[in-house]
Amino acid sequence: MAKEIRTIGVMTSGGDAPGMNAAIRAVARACAYYNVKCIGFYRGYQGMIEGDHCIMNARSVRNIISRGGTILKSARSKDFETPEGRKKAADHLKEIGVDAMVLIGGDGTFRGGKIFSEEYDIPVIGVPGTIDNDIAGTNYTIGYDTALNTVIDAIDKIRDTASSHDRLFFIEVMGRDAGFIALNSGVGAGAEEILIPEEDLGLERLLESLKRSKRSGKSSSIVVVSEGDKIGKNVYELADYVTDNLPDYDVRVTVLGHMQRGGSPSCFDRTLASRLCVKAVELLLDGEKNVMVGLLDNKVTATTFEVGLKEGHEINKELLRISDILST
Ligand code: ATP
Repeated sequence: MAKEIRTIGVMTSGGDAPGMNAAIRAVARACAYYNVKCIGFYRGYQGMIEGDHCIMNARSVRNIISRGGTILKSARSKDFETPEGRKKAADHLKEIGVDAMVLIGGDGTFRGGKIFSEEYDIPVIGVPGTIDNDIAGTNYTIGYDTALNTVIDAIDKIRDTASSHDRLFFIEVMGRDAGFIALNSGVGAGAEEILIPEEDLGLERLLESLKRSKRSGKSSSIVVVSEGDKIGKNVYELADYVTDNLPDYDVRVTVLGHMQRGGSPSCFDRTLASRLCVKAVELLLDGEKNVMVGLLDNKVTATTFEVGLKEGHEINKELLRISDILST
């Protein structure tokens, strides 16, 4: 029989994402609703290793649903990647009396959670919180929608200045291994070209496309570049390459950087966080363990870490075709 769950721990790990606070709130409130004690750990796995924690009740999460970032702070923990680090974390959980954990983070966080749950008899549930949207077990991760809206807002502003000065802008967005942000914001903001890690467009095609744009009468252009683009050049080198080969263009670069992680979460991310985290607590109370929750076809679903992490989450290449047609 599954061990009775009387105390649930929660932490946020990896890159921070808007909506993590809404997720923490939902865990704390669901625990309060079901009369379960809730403990928050600071700085992800590192806080579990160091025993850095706080007691959370329904009131300790008031007024955080609208706030970006994470009140529990986030971190990447090298120590947790070692068996000694994970043992310290397990020892602290036992010492504090934590029976199960909700882990809010990205694929790395889930990899750590999977190993931890294989080594120790402490049930864990993963909640996808990352702006990257690169997890197979869910159609959407918490933070992705807000990041997209931040990016298109920024691109719209850059478009204003680009068209006033007839300039070509290369705009780098986040996504080392996944092009979701670049692809969707590129289509949403009407970019002329979108460069993503999943597809090697090639420098020649890029030049051809820009020449075509010019011929069709466009005086300004936006190229959205994912930071992990496989074309083999970073955004500055790309800009230099285009300047060398198309001297008619007045080329500029903007790297959006960490602003993409900040800001008040969108309604979609708040609702997603609320739905997923209530489910995470309920699954633990039902004796479920070592799965991630996600939204698949608008249903909250539990998926094993193996499946959730397996293939990553495929991008919709149809959007590249749409972008090609619409940038005519
Ligand atoms: P994001 O997608 O926003 O970057 P993430 O959760 O993928 O978030 P990572 O830095 O990859 O961020 O992982 C977070 C933490 O998970 C790591 O700092 C580490 O402590 C733990 N972790 C990742 N992979 C492993 C692993 N193979 N074994 C143990 N722990 C791991």
